[in-house]
Amino acid sequence: PPIIVLENVSKSYQKGTEAVKNISLKIRKGEFVFIVGNSGSGKSTLIKLMLKEVEPSSGKIYVNGKDLGRLRRGQVPKLRRNIGVVFQDFRLLKDRNVYENVAFAQRVIEKPLKSIRENVPAMLSIVGLSDKLNSLPRELSGGEQQRVALARALVNNPVLLLADEPTGNLDPKNSWEIMALLEEVNKRGTTVLVVTHNREIVDAMQKRVITMNKGILVSDEQKGGYLYEN
Ligand code: ADP
Ligand code: ADP
Repeated sequence: PPIIVLENVSKSYQKGTEAVKNISLKIRKGEFVFIVGNSGSGKSTLIKLMLKEVEPSSGKIYVNGKDLGRLRRGQVPKLRRNIGVVFQDFRLLKDRNVYENVAFAQRVIEKPLKSIRENVPAMLSIVGLSDKLNSLPRELSGGEQQRVALARALVNNPVLLLADEPTGNLDPKNSWEIMALLEEVNKRGTTVLVVTHNREIVDAMQKRVITMNKGILVSDEQKGGYLYEN
């Protein structure tokens, strides 16, 4: 079965903004998908719907085999444990070092200490930060901070990675490094969904591209490009 299914999903916020209008889409296990579109086109709302952070006004959403409409409150943390998330603004714990930021994700799911001591350095090695375990976030560049966030998102082996503008605060070189890591993660089997404004990267990477415009899914292409001006 697909890892994400949206069937005729609409979302209106309180003040009447229709952020997402009658969206249907399927994402299969192992896909790498970009979601592009102007600011306000509903991209973040799609991500929030998949995490059950907001509820659809109508339609059905299935993530990792679960019907989110039938998922009880208490089951939501379990759903999210299988989903890694990264954001434009990194969202690291400011007073914890790199190791602790990543270890935190494992403590939350009550991994044994022995496993944590193996998994955290291994994950930080994959993102190229083995020499920064004791650094605080403020001592790192933006690209390094995003790599910590990525390590934290991936250390629990999620089936799905959702990235909301992961390169929005990065220069081109660091943006490409993060995208290369996302591609590697995808090659290792994780389904990857990336919201981005980065036209150059989208056009170069030749992945599936879903384009949103004013809440409507206007295009969904395998090996697509970036359609709209910002
Ligand atoms: P994007 O991620 O593409 O910029 P969003 O999903 O954030 O788009 O927003 C889509 C629309 O929904 C916008 O018009 C935005 O102002 C509106 N919106 C987003 N979040 C809320 C909210 N919590 N309350 C009311 N309106 C919102
Ligand atoms: P994994 O999650 O990698 O399968 P295991 O659950 O098999 O890890 O545990 C790995 C090892 O850690 C086992 O030898 C286990 O006894 C030990 N262990 C379990 N809980 C803890 C803990 N709280 N602190 C330290 N070691 C623990």
